[in-house]
Amino acid sequence: MKYGRDYRARTDRVSCTTGSNRNSELQELYHGSAQQLGAHQQALWQQQRRYVFEHSAFYRRLWNESEPPERLEEIAALPLSDKADLRRSQTETPPFGDYLAASTERVTRLHRTSGTTGQAMNLALSARDCEVTETIGGRAQSLAGLRASHRVVHCLNYRMWMGGVTDHLTLERSGAMVVPFGVGETALLVRTIREIGINAISCTPSYPMVLEQVVRDDFPGLEPRDLGLELGLFGGEPGLDDPAFRARLRETWGFEPRNANYGVSDVMSNFAAQCDRDTSLHFVGADYLYPEIVDPDSGQPRPLRAGVQGELVLTHLQRDCQPLVRFRSGDIVELQDLEPCACGHRGLRFRVVGRSDDMVVVRGINVFPTQVAAVVNEFVNLSGNYRIRLERPPPHDLLPVAVELAGTGDTPAGLVAEIEAEIKRSIGVSAQVEVLPAGSFELTEGKTRRVERNYS
Ligand SMILES: [Zn+2]
Repeated sequence: MKYGRDYRARTDRVSCTTGSNRNSELQELYHGSAQQLGAHQQALWQQQRRYVFEHSAFYRRLWNESEPPERLEEIAALPLSDKADLRRSQTETPPFGDYLAASTERVTRLHRTSGTTGQAMNLALSARDCEVTETIGGRAQSLAGLRASHRVVHCLNYRMWMGGVTDHLTLERSGAMVVPFGVGETALLVRTIREIGINAISCTPSYPMVLEQVVRDDFPGLEPRDLGLELGLFGGEPGLDDPAFRARLRETWGFEPRNANYGVSDVMSNFAAQCDRDTSLHFVGADYLYPEIVDPDSGQPRPLRAGVQGELVLTHLQRDCQPLVRFRSGDIVELQDLEPCACGHRGLRFRVVGRSDDMVVVRGINVFPTQVAAVVNEFVNLSGNYRIRLERPPPHDLLPVAVELAGTGDTPAGLVAEIEAEIKRSIGVSAQVEVLPAGSFELTEGKTRRVERNYS
């Protein structure tokens, strides 16, 4: 308990300071011993387990009215909860579901998820939930290199989604000057970047392609790298740990690309980022989120060891409005080296291998879009854009991949065979590749759905 309180006091200080002070305290927090962190987590769980049991009808039902274990390390005895459960709960008890554990008077912010994979979800946050969300998100942005010296333009949709106002507030926690821009009006964005001397951008990884096209079409004589952007902060889509994709962004824009924004919308908007030394995602929310890795099929827990792959499961250690316990993120991750990073971070580091619902099984091999992206990005005559187009329900013998040429002209002889051979070599499955003319795929500012299931 003693360590728990000390730890929390330090966390509170982190939340109300800015700039370089903040960074040194952030370092201090993550230099804290595993023992201190464990005691802090346990202290929060003691309160949270009672709170959830008393106020969440959803979890009481899931737990058959029995109290959850007192020790955090024993929570694997509890059943997992998932997105489908939350959806059902919101349908039956609109608008927040019966996992709302606080009175609606305590809700100070409402977000909605985009609902690209189903119905839109309503996310409720108390003032304290917002504070924790912004503190942890701010750590991620700082870890990714955002400083008080930056002028960062935030180009995610501000209408209701977490990525808008909440991510904006996490950017502010770094001490940087934050310009709220939102989406659309790309020509105005280019002019704004030049007029204000903006040197960092926060957007989805697919947005620079849109921006690049506008610079080339509407600003003759101007090259993307002339805009002077030094840092690109991305989130919302995987792919940022692919070296070829990063190299392409660096080459075109001259900025350092970082994934600064990994989150799970129902849990927390942003709790992991890349640093300047290492491209794996650093988990920066361990004082409020308890992570587990489970087998995506059986749900059985797997040890937190380097090289272990499985679905990320998260438990809120403190959450007022919609606390979640053992919630399946749907993201398949692989844990990296557990030694401290060269940047000083001591917590978990991981890579997102893919979404459990984006996984395509080809002759028993699990294939994720990020693996296909890595191959596609190796070919300079391809744009980097691609789709996995499934025309038939599983089982799949072949991986059908549609790719797009980077420039005009005919498909070079032998290109299809080369790409198919490279997919076979690096992923281990046979592919059927179709090469399309440049510009065949619609460019989106939001999330791009890479796997198309064109069957019913
Ligand atoms: Zn690091």
